[in-house]
Amino acid sequence: MSNEGNTLLIGHYRALTLWGQRGTRQILKLRYPKTLLDNRTLDMAYTRAGVARVQVMGFNWVFLMGSWGFPPEDEAVDWVAFRKAVSLYQNAGIQVCGGVQVLAYVPQGSYAEKEWAAHDPWGKPIPYATGHLLACWQDSAWQAEVQRRITLLIEGGVQGVFFAAPWLGDIPFTLAQDVPGAYCHCERCQAAFAAANARKHIPSTLNPRNSQVRAYLQWRAEQAVEQLGIWADHARTLKPDIMIAAEGNVTLAGHSMTGNESPLQRLSAGQNVTLLRSEMPQPHPEGLRHNAVYLALARLRTSEIPLASHVGPRRENAHQDTDESLHRFVTAMGEACALNVLPAINGSDFVANQSRTLLLHDAFEKQRAAIGRTNAWLEQHAPWLNLRTNASPLAVYAPRNIDDDPLAALVVRAACQTLILHGLPLRIVDDGDWDGVQTVIVPPGEVNAGRLADFAASDGRVIALQQARPGCVSPLWTRYKLPQRRRLPVDWPLVGRLVDRMRAAMWRLAHTPGLLQPLLRRVQGRFAVQSEITPPVAVQRELVSAIGLDIRPRAEGEGALLFTIWREPGGNQQWHLVNYLDEPQRVTLHTPSFASGWVFSPTDNESVKVFGNAIMVTVWNYKVLRVGVGGPEAPG
Ligand SMILES: [Zn+2]
Repeated sequence: MSNEGNTLLIGHYRALTLWGQRGTRQILKLRYPKTLLDNRTLDMAYTRAGVARVQVMGFNWVFLMGSWGFPPEDEAVDWVAFRKAVSLYQNAGIQVCGGVQVLAYVPQGSYAEKEWAAHDPWGKPIPYATGHLLACWQDSAWQAEVQRRITLLIEGGVQGVFFAAPWLGDIPFTLAQDVPGAYCHCERCQAAFAAANARKHIPSTLNPRNSQVRAYLQWRAEQAVEQLGIWADHARTLKPDIMIAAEGNVTLAGHSMTGNESPLQRLSAGQNVTLLRSEMPQPHPEGLRHNAVYLALARLRTSEIPLASHVGPRRENAHQDTDESLHRFVTAMGEACALNVLPAINGSDFVANQSRTLLLHDAFEKQRAAIGRTNAWLEQHAPWLNLRTNASPLAVYAPRNIDDDPLAALVVRAACQTLILHGLPLRIVDDGDWDGVQTVIVPPGEVNAGRLADFAASDGRVIALQQARPGCVSPLWTRYKLPQRRRLPVDWPLVGRLVDRMRAAMWRLAHTPGLLQPLLRRVQGRFAVQSEITPPVAVQRELVSAIGLDIRPRAEGEGALLFTIWREPGGNQQWHLVNYLDEPQRVTLHTPSFASGWVFSPTDNESVKVFGNAIMVTVWNYKVLRVGVGGPEAPG
């Protein structure tokens, strides 16, 4: 078998998650009792026919779920099927990463009597989903149970282990300011926290402005990272070259909560690769939806750790058939590649004929073919796709603790959204590399003023938003009021506690079968929708005209466009263009001087030579121009 996939580089690591077979059917039935299941396709994932369809898509890693958290007597039969599937994939040259649920379990059969559930401050077990409970990570019996499953995965012959949704004990519901709110209050956790923190109690509400809360969040993050490390070490003891993967939550990317490291960075430290779960970009009436800003921030915060953008279909309505066009798949993979993140696909969560199914369903044949072409293209062009550093002359400054200041965080996202809507290059910097930056956009709040002053003194241009800065005395966006989110008075402990209690009760009811469930599900679902912040048109224009038309290279398109600029070691540049519209977009690239080079795209068979001071291209989904003075001599 080829070891190519052990190289965590674009084009070498081509991963697909595929939750199928009996265990998945059981879990779907439990979570969504009224949803129809396409058993035929869910089972196909573990057969030769399924392997053949994965091969068509050009993946060399497939993620199969080993354990969803059912008691051992229920899972025994699934493990037999799992082992067979592992050998089918491996015989076809595809490596298998086995998934294990580390956060929750199903309290039935021999698990009904277990006492490892996480408890809220009112002593109630915390549901993860209908029929599941969150587990307390301080419980040694739970730790051992996860370890037992890791052993089963490795005995099953996997090359990788995947920790599903660890999210640092994160939650389903969130408090004000997006800080995770579900956290175990059991006696064990209280005692462990008190021992490590001068006999303090776990705070009953999570107000991040409170220093004790921050101490608690830091402690919890450390505990979770340590536990994941112990499980990873166990896997590596059994199989030294095992690939460890974990799922990170994209919304964690920008939080520092406790200082220098974001939870994502901490989470990633013990893994070989972190999967960032998201949905495909799409134009939307409430504003363009995409993952570019999250991916750019995540990439910035974890520069040394491979990240994969694990995109799946939109799930607005579980009963509506998935209608993502083949172009959206290419756009989603291109979006990752344009930000130097590994493209990966979530092959689950699809709906066809109103039934839950997989990407393997007959209805998605064209999409599979498009993914196959894109993976082949990524593999073919991997040598240069992986050799580049950010070279945009325009950058948005996002200090490391940006998400501790909600206003600054929203301004950064609104500025990035403005750049994308106007085809201006997207690059986010923190206090690290500013190589090649000529203009920097600065949000309000705490920044490194010394660095800005140095930058301005050496002819750098500063565009300050909302607050005057060295090099920019008249800031923009001073009248731009961000959309008011309902702010809870969490500083009043009693009110905060009451609100928390109501939220916890709502969350519990939403995951208890009954009359209220459908209604509460809908309310809860709204917390999950992420829309990028689109500022009013006049506000966008203010920023765009301050940036000016002189910026080069500049892409002039017809709508939302992700444009990133990179430099190769030989001096040539790569201009990555991702079209977020649902129809092809004509784009004119205004170059710094006469430029020539080649255009590459997963949707075109051949590379095309281009030259000029204004280069015109039509972008269906994803295109890359490799240009330079004189340009590369030959494509490839
Ligand atoms: Zn606990």
